[in-house]
Amino acid sequence: MVMSNYSIQTRLLHNTYSIDQTTNGVSTPIHHASTYHQEDTDQFGKYDYSRSGNPTREALETAIADLEGGTNGFAFASGMAAISTSLLLLSRGDHLLVTEDVYGGTFRFVSQVLNRFGIEYTFVDMTNYELVKNSFQENTKAVYLETPSNPLLTVTDVRAISSLAKQHNCLVYVDNTFLTPEIQQPLQLGADIVLHSATKFLGGHSDVVAGLAVTNNEEIAKQLYFLQNTFGAVLGPQDCWLILRGLKTLHARLKLSVQSAEKIAAFLEKHPLIKEVYYPGLKNHQGYEIQKNQAKNGGAVLSFLLESKEHVQQFVEHIQIPVFAVSLGAVESILSYPKTMSHSSVPDDECEKRGIQDGLLRLSVGLEDPDELITDINQSLEKIVKKETLFSK
Ligand SMILES: *Cc1c(COP(=O)(O)O)cnc(C)c1O
Repeated sequence: MVMSNYSIQTRLLHNTYSIDQTTNGVSTPIHHASTYHQEDTDQFGKYDYSRSGNPTREALETAIADLEGGTNGFAFASGMAAISTSLLLLSRGDHLLVTEDVYGGTFRFVSQVLNRFGIEYTFVDMTNYELVKNSFQENTKAVYLETPSNPLLTVTDVRAISSLAKQHNCLVYVDNTFLTPEIQQPLQLGADIVLHSATKFLGGHSDVVAGLAVTNNEEIAKQLYFLQNTFGAVLGPQDCWLILRGLKTLHARLKLSVQSAEKIAAFLEKHPLIKEVYYPGLKNHQGYEIQKNQAKNGGAVLSFLLESKEHVQQFVEHIQIPVFAVSLGAVESILSYPKTMSHSSVPDDECEKRGIQDGLLRLSVGLEDPDELITDINQSLEKIVKKETLFSK
């Protein structure tokens, strides 16, 4: 069945692997075999050993490649495994430009691991085109973007930065975890490699850790396959199946979550205790226009700024519905405190430089009734007000 003419909404459900070839089962089988019987000494079948290739993983890798509009997908044991393995395309002496407010784990890998192997890096504000332009060095080989970024939802113009990178013969990596191919497809905007923590929206149920990489370039695909098989951080078949199942409801889940996020952002924007709302779906957001040009909507994650850590503590103490945890992109709303959670590996002075303030909270909006979420947020904010007035008396 050729599905390429259909929308993502339909392709999430119907693809080459959605009906099992041998049984017609309407669910991809989980192939646990680690090794495969071969007929003779010289000619091996399609599969020989599951690190090198596994039918369940292949189904997932094919599905994500199709959804991102790429040619090849690769599944890894975590988002960080996908990111780290893909960054091993770089060699000693190469230089990497990285978006300033990159995911904490990526920051750690670049600044504490890659550098030990002689790979240089510069963190730059990717929203500042002139600055990016002037940051290229003779040995710059790649540009690494995350848009919208974490936790301030800063939007980078993927087309503009990609075309700049191409002028310097650089690879472009985009971490697309926050939006998924349902909302944004970086390969269509000029990127070479798209990365995912599939732990988030793609899995969607807070029950699996997984990572994906996709490219639309045959040469890069060969090298990524080599690295995936060599480094060996592949995703197990059971977890591949969980991501495949998560994908089926991606459109439906995001549709609801995005609608609710828009509603909640609008509510927060008007609340006197909120100093700032960071959501690329809001008209006054730094990257609203760019976001509109490169993505379908603002996504389902937003951050907001309270006055102080004390306010954050009071708010978190009283909030009822969202879980208070690291991670995002799940059916349940997840509230998190970037400073000590997702960005705990980023030093204090770096946090300050990047605007990750003491009063900042991030909310990943799930599938709960949005009005109930707003009521809940409102009552928690009221508790802060009550305490304030008590003190001021
Ligand atoms: C969670 C996350 C990662 C890391 O993924 P893991 O699956 O936790 O290893 C990378 N990038 C972003 C944007 C993330 O949110």
